[in-house]
Amino acid sequence: MSETSSRFILERYAEFLPVTDKTPMVTLGECGTPLVRSRVLGPELGLEALYFKLEYTNPTGSFKDRGMVMAVAKAIEAGAEALLCASTGNTSASAAAYAARHGVPSYVIVPAGRIAMGKLAQAVVHGAEIVAIEGSFDDALNIARQLGERPGIALVNSVNPYRIQGQKTGAFEIVDDLGEAPDLLCIPVGNAGNITAYWRGFNEYRQAERSTRLPKMWGFQAAGAAPLVLGHPVANPETIATAIRIGNPASWDGAVNARDESQGMIDSVTDDEILEAYRRIASDEGLFCEPASAASLAGLIKQVAAGQRVEGLTAVCILTGNGLKDPDTALKIEAVQHQAPADLAAVERELGWN
Ligand SMILES: *Cc1c(COP(=O)(O)O)cnc(C)c1O
Repeated sequence: MSETSSRFILERYAEFLPVTDKTPMVTLGECGTPLVRSRVLGPELGLEALYFKLEYTNPTGSFKDRGMVMAVAKAIEAGAEALLCASTGNTSASAAAYAARHGVPSYVIVPAGRIAMGKLAQAVVHGAEIVAIEGSFDDALNIARQLGERPGIALVNSVNPYRIQGQKTGAFEIVDDLGEAPDLLCIPVGNAGNITAYWRGFNEYRQAERSTRLPKMWGFQAAGAAPLVLGHPVANPETIATAIRIGNPASWDGAVNARDESQGMIDSVTDDEILEAYRRIASDEGLFCEPASAASLAGLIKQVAAGQRVEGLTAVCILTGNGLKDPDTALKIEAVQHQAPADLAAVERELGWN
């Protein structure tokens, strides 16, 4: 792959990023993700237009690559010898890939048994050194923050400000594609780095006169892991959407700020609402995201059902991660329906085609 491809945020958005002549310009082909218009759900909800931003088409299958390419480049520029992160899965997949690309080791702290299989496979195959702890993501992040004090080690969680810098480019792309900011930006919220980053991106683009307005930010947490909705940390967060199973978001203030400044909201959706949205995105739109990503649409559906007026509005739902990372969830809600011997007549009988 060319290191100067347009799917390379450090190059495409250099003027908005802390890129210097010493920043190593290494890419895996992140950014430039499709903005796909909804066929069924947008009209059904009464929106003027609904778009899905397919962040799962980034190189490791989630938006985390946008922040990681920036954070890792700055870490290497500053002389880091190894990368470290706590992760619910996608951060470690991304960190491990960029570490491999730069030829440095990566260390990953994860909550044992709480990581979708595909994400763990990615960290393993990229050669990360993985420690599964008996605890939550929040425990893992506490430990990682302390380990990150060691010389030569760069902590690349979203407490690293370069992560937010890279992730804000998702907002730039939406404006580049639509020619204007949308009315509503619907986004899942876990550690709250991404909602913070999008809000910053929309603001910087408006300041640069690339757009004339700002969207309302609608963030959605899982009901069992909704500290920002409750207004206090959650000790034992629970949800099927493991990527947002976080009880004490690192970017708490950023999320509250995005909500308040945009006159938006942060609400919660139940696991059932998440799974229903996940199923509909896949079966009505042909898009396969992971459960956490579907919280964005689940929240939008919930708000419209509760009477929010959306007629004439344009909304964008961020589909943050790839459904293939978590095939267990897909196969739990839709089983293979038929079994038959390897025989034409038997298959016809099974399908009711005879
Ligand atoms: C990390 C992640 C989120 C949550 O993003 P935050 O920045 O932690 O709020 C949502 N969906 C997926 C797929 C993720 O990997």
